[in-house]
Amino acid sequence: MTTLSIAEVRAKVLSGELKLRDVVEASRQKIDAQNVEINAFVYTDFELALKQADEVQEKIMSGTAGKMAGAVMGIKDVICEREKPTTCASDILAGFESVYDATVIERLKAEDAVIVGRLNMDEFAMGSTTEYSRYGASKNPRNTRKVTGGSSGGSAAAIAADMVNASLGSDTGGSIRQPASYCGVVGLKPTYGRVSRYGLVAYASSFDSIGPFAHNVEDAARVLEVIAGFDEMDNTSSREPVGNYVETVQNPTKNIRIGVPEEFFGEGLDPEIKEGIEATLKKLEDDGAELVPIHLPHTKYGIATYYILATAEASSNLARFDGIRYGHRTDKDAMLDELKAEEEDLKKAIKAADGAEKKELQAELERMDSALVRLYKKSRTEGFGMEVKRRIMLGTYVLSAGYYDAYYGKAQRVRRLIKQDYTDAFKEVDVIVTPTAPTTAFDIGSEIDDPLQMYLNDVYTISANLAGICGVSVPAGTHSNGMPYGIQFMGDTFQESKILNAARLVEMLD
Ligand code: GLN
Repeated sequence: MTTLSIAEVRAKVLSGELKLRDVVEASRQKIDAQNVEINAFVYTDFELALKQADEVQEKIMSGTAGKMAGAVMGIKDVICEREKPTTCASDILAGFESVYDATVIERLKAEDAVIVGRLNMDEFAMGSTTEYSRYGASKNPRNTRKVTGGSSGGSAAAIAADMVNASLGSDTGGSIRQPASYCGVVGLKPTYGRVSRYGLVAYASSFDSIGPFAHNVEDAARVLEVIAGFDEMDNTSSREPVGNYVETVQNPTKNIRIGVPEEFFGEGLDPEIKEGIEATLKKLEDDGAELVPIHLPHTKYGIATYYILATAEASSNLARFDGIRYGHRTDKDAMLDELKAEEEDLKKAIKAADGAEKKELQAELERMDSALVRLYKKSRTEGFGMEVKRRIMLGTYVLSAGYYDAYYGKAQRVRRLIKQDYTDAFKEVDVIVTPTAPTTAFDIGSEIDDPLQMYLNDVYTISANLAGICGVSVPAGTHSNGMPYGIQFMGDTFQESKILNAARLVEMLD
């Protein structure tokens, strides 16, 4: 039942063939049976979900149900839901419950989606595998030795394992599209500002977007249509009218102009993925699409630019987790004892020393942390994981006086050039096609010790976030290693209809 599309569930409920409660029960059974292994959900509340299902059932029967009636959903643990744990898979937010609903949650509920639980992710959405989580790694339902991709790995796996029929993730550099590719599902990153970020815990505020995962393009379109649109709570959200995305995918246009950027099909791309995508493009061409070779010359600077700007923004955004206002706080008494002992040791040493050494020790005593600063440091040291700490260090480094111009300032200028590449390209084409990721999902544990290798998994997704444009990944085939891979379509700002149209054409080739 959880493989049915949102519209199918709704139709079957209306015809009496199904009760919505049974679909939610089916979701519970799937999760009970498989979540121990897959580790997609980190929290569920079926009592609430079943109650909601009964309410929506009534509405469907009386013809008053909203657009999302029939959706049984999971939400990435970075999007606030009232009175539910919102931990961003971090120890620093262990036990934290949100006091309000993110705008996307409000909109989904208002349109009668049923939400069953919260989904695993890389801590604070930093990562490409969903291994950096306080809950442990999620596993790829297509092969449980493999990663799901990340950071929205739980959101992708929950769809691939048929636990729910739609989910939400967030995408800062590829975190929706890349796991969608690894797990063989549809994932869409909207244009920056298309969907309100109110209630999304910020990673890199000028890159973050919330978007849907689903089994098929139409369901992704349906979720997007509901969550998109201006929100007075987010002043970066756009007043651009929301498109009729569902209608678009129900009547897709075949004669579209598809830009094929040479820079995305070169070194590092798995040859089988390359061939597969070229074969798909050939079929689209046979059906009426026009393939246009294009160039995006600044692509090669994408990863470097992203990891300077995103870490800079992250270091600032994560400053709020200080052990005072939210979540984890170090054991205060132990910390004070430790501080006192250090102070006494220093004082003793000062007494015993003389000359230059004495002066140095005295200076050290003066530099000692205040109790407050020590509380911040210890709480953060204990609460944040390794990768998050790495990002904070990188980010504070590139923002520090003396390095700011060389790194942050320069990266901002390169970001502008990347954006310009896309603006120019979209004068010629409707969409740009690329592989979603250079490889299929790899073994759990194989890249965790090599951050640079890990960062390269985002090579094809990152520039859409740098440019603020939209992108979708749709399954394109299965590799001889048995794992799925996706094809990505990028569209100009607010051209979600065009990328959904293209994704639907690929889906129709099956
Ligand atoms: N993997 C990228 C990173 O670690 C992107 C993450 C994301 O999109 N949230 O920053």
